[in-house]
Amino acid sequence: MKWQEYQEAVGQLYEQMAEFGVVKKNITIPDRVTGQARQIDVWWEMKIENHSFKILIDAKKRKEKIDVKDVEEIMMLAQSVNADKAIIVTNNEWTEPAEKRAKFDGMDLRILSIDEATDLVVEDKWLMCSICNEDCVLLDQSGFMTKNNLLNWWLGGKCRSCDSIYINCQDCGSKGIAREKIEYICECPIKWTSQNGVLSISEFDPNKQIDFEDPNQIKIDFNE
Ligand SMILES: [Zn+2]
Ligand SMILES: [Zn+2]
Repeated sequence: MKWQEYQEAVGQLYEQMAEFGVVKKNITIPDRVTGQARQIDVWWEMKIENHSFKILIDAKKRKEKIDVKDVEEIMMLAQSVNADKAIIVTNNEWTEPAEKRAKFDGMDLRILSIDEATDLVVEDKWLMCSICNEDCVLLDQSGFMTKNNLLNWWLGGKCRSCDSIYINCQDCGSKGIAREKIEYICECPIKWTSQNGVLSISEFDPNKQIDFEDPNQIKIDFNE
């Protein structure tokens, strides 16, 4: 999942709160001191007893934990645009000092996992790539092949980040991942191999080496 998609998911999460005010996604607000445009992921404005209460929400897709510096940075941003409150939404955890700092500043730290974020922005069929944990895989390709006069049907999808190809073999019901030079053999058995995002399908023969140039195999380009 890209950062932009995570930001969009956080926006959609808070759009569910739109009945309690107005929620805007990905906007800019002039800095009250410098006048420069500041980018805001989500801006949630509600009226509380004639007072307009403004909440700044910042999406942080991170591999590392949120630390004090992140909290301070968002606190500064919130002050610069006159927000009454700030919330950081992250896929990962935060450090203890970050939590103390946030508590002191009245800031909320929330977790929205990549899986939850994915559920918010896309239909089903997506899964998180377990190889790189960087992106989601959409099983958006399917195909047929004949094997011993039987028709084999499969679903597949490529991770945009690491090029792993996910295979659901509908014939034997097994699921696997064909990676660069690492074959996957389902229970049929069919051999699934991938190279540069191109999937090769052939009947499994234990006596044969992987041959990417084998003319008898079916090739499907997942890069298109
Ligand atoms: Zn991946
Ligand atoms: Zn199979």
